[in-house]
Amino acid sequence: MVGGFLGAGKTTALLRLAEHLTGQGRRVGLITNDQSYGLVDTTLVGSHGYPVEEITGGCFCGAVRYRVKGATRDVSHCHCGICRRTSGAPFVTWATFPAARFAFTSGTPAELHSTPRAVRQFCAACGTALTFRETARPGSVDVTVGSMDRPDAIVPAAHIWTASQLSWLRLGDDLPRHVGEDPEERDVGP
Ligand SMILES: [Zn+2]
Ligand SMILES: [Zn+2]
Repeated sequence: MVGGFLGAGKTTALLRLAEHLTGQGRRVGLITNDQSYGLVDTTLVGSHGYPVEEITGGCFCGAVRYRVKGATRDVSHCHCGICRRTSGAPFVTWATFPAARFAFTSGTPAELHSTPRAVRQFCAACGTALTFRETARPGSVDVTVGSMDRPDAIVPAAHIWTASQLSWLRLGDDLPRHVGEDPEERDVGP
């Protein structure tokens, strides 16, 4: 555990240690937790030659592309009626990220205010659902796992809004099921 003030040199010290261990032939993984715009720690680690985890994705037609730097906080299958209608599928799988880590890299998505407090972004040309944002959670963005280039790499951890799950849908997993939102991560409706 390394603690210290902003700018104290924590990341630099960890990088030195990583370089030392790498020099001994060890494999090293560094996990940064910078939440701000610019991703100072992530950029510093990347500039020292360590590969930074990056998730890319986009819509079906390719007009809209996005990139997320870093790992997801939370992945869940949403069975709510709004996800069902806006996607045309029985449920939608979402991964939550810090909003500062997400960026569109090409194209401009269309926006739908699906409720007064939620905005969904999608491709205006092909209709692929891309993101979900809530005014109550401005620091977070949910991204559709199905629009990612490597959806297999993102593993769901729960089902939410199961009160709305379709009766004919049979699921063989043993993931936790929440009648509404997961109270730990989300506290408002879809
Ligand atoms: Zn498209
Ligand atoms: Zn939903």
